Amino acid sequence: MTKKVVILGSTGSIGTQTLDVIKHNQDIEVVGLTANSRIDLLEEQIKQFRPKIVCVMHEDKARVLKDRLDSQSIDVEVVCGVKGLSTVATIEEVDIVVTAVVGMIGLIPTIEAIKVGKTIALANKETLVTAGELVMHLAKEKNVSILPVDSEHSAIFQCLQGNTHQSIDKLILTASGGPFRTFSKDELKKVTVEQALKHPNWVMGSKITIDSATLMNKGLEVIEAKHLFDVDPSQIDVVVHKESIIHSMVAYQDGSTIAQLGMPDMRHPIAYALYYPERRVSEYIKKLDLVAIGSLSFEAPRKDDFPCLQLAYDALEIGGTMTAVLNAANEEVVASFLNKQISFMQIPEIIHTVMDKHICINRPSLEQILECDRWAREYSREQVAKCY
Ligand code: NAD
Ligand code: MG
Repeated sequence: MTKKVVILGSTGSIGTQTLDVIKHNQDIEVVGLTANSRIDLLEEQIKQFRPKIVCVMHEDKARVLKDRLDSQSIDVEVVCGVKGLSTVATIEEVDIVVTAVVGMIGLIPTIEAIKVGKTIALANKETLVTAGELVMHLAKEKNVSILPVDSEHSAIFQCLQGNTHQSIDKLILTASGGPFRTFSKDELKKVTVEQALKHPNWVMGSKITIDSATLMNKGLEVIEAKHLFDVDPSQIDVVVHKESIIHSMVAYQDGSTIAQLGMPDMRHPIAYALYYPERRVSEYIKKLDLVAIGSLSFEAPRKDDFPCLQLAYDALEIGGTMTAVLNAANEEVVASFLNKQISFMQIPEIIHTVMDKHICINRPSLEQILECDRWAREYSREQVAKCY
């Protein structure tokens, strides 16, 4: 039977790679696509994949797209805004929703999709960082699978196959270390946006690329792993592995550690999530050649020089609304860094200030989470304004 999918964020790095996997396999029907503002690319995608419905966040751009489609007699429903995202995420005939938007804007449509029983292929890590308990609880209640697309979590998911939860000792997330892995404290103070956007192993959207440079990405992934795999935070370790060949590992109680390896290519974890539990032939992805790679290296993360990782562990330990606040502050300060309003090392500083100020709410409702998200963004922007 043909699977039917929608991709939230089809014009981004994960979105375009998901469409590439679908193109190579030819047996998935694309029913819905969404974009923030890149309507030219969305139009191309519509012509190639012929979805029934698309969402463009900006209303005027949605109208421009609709006019263009009408003039070419292409019959596609065009919706807009957050409500439109949820409309696309909940179309009746769809089996899988790929959440590939960036930021906590992905939360509500993901919740709506879970409520109506869709399988979630989850790339948008901010969803679980912001509201992990709530989302996982709802998924359990609705008997919905959340299949990880993030490469580390896909690796762990693969390493867990055939093993029991109680036999897990530790989850070991690998981190590339980003472009500044070897930079001294002084050098880190002076890094530019252009340098931070040059990731050594992966080509990704700008927000996650900056997160990789600060190590916040790994921090967000620690939180994501806690929720996906229901382990204690003390059971999640991070090891820097600059080659990005081992995508993560599970250490078991009996002393065995199972790792998942592959070339750093997101189409691997995307295909695994789309076809799980089937493993599809993927001739279009470069094969792993360990002899050519020669050696793999491992080192401890420099937590003192890259404070974002510890901030994420702290937020997870505190729990409640603190991880939503960490995420919101991070989204704001990363945007400010990209706009050249703050320096690289002001990213952790401001997040720390915002977390310190937050009065945490335990077992929050969705409304309380959204309220804390709003507060954290506003307070972060005030802190950024003090910097210039
Ligand atoms: P990206 O910036 O390349 O793409 C983001 C997508 O979301 C685009 O389609 C964009 O149109 C859409 N979007 C952006 N802002 C939006 C808004 N306000 N409302 C609605 N749509 C919006 O990002 P990406 O690198 O593809 O990352 C997407 C998600 O996947 C992120 O949560 C990221 O952490 C996660 N992820 C990415 C990678 C990767 O290799 N790129 C790996 C693991 C996890
Ligand atoms: Mg990752």
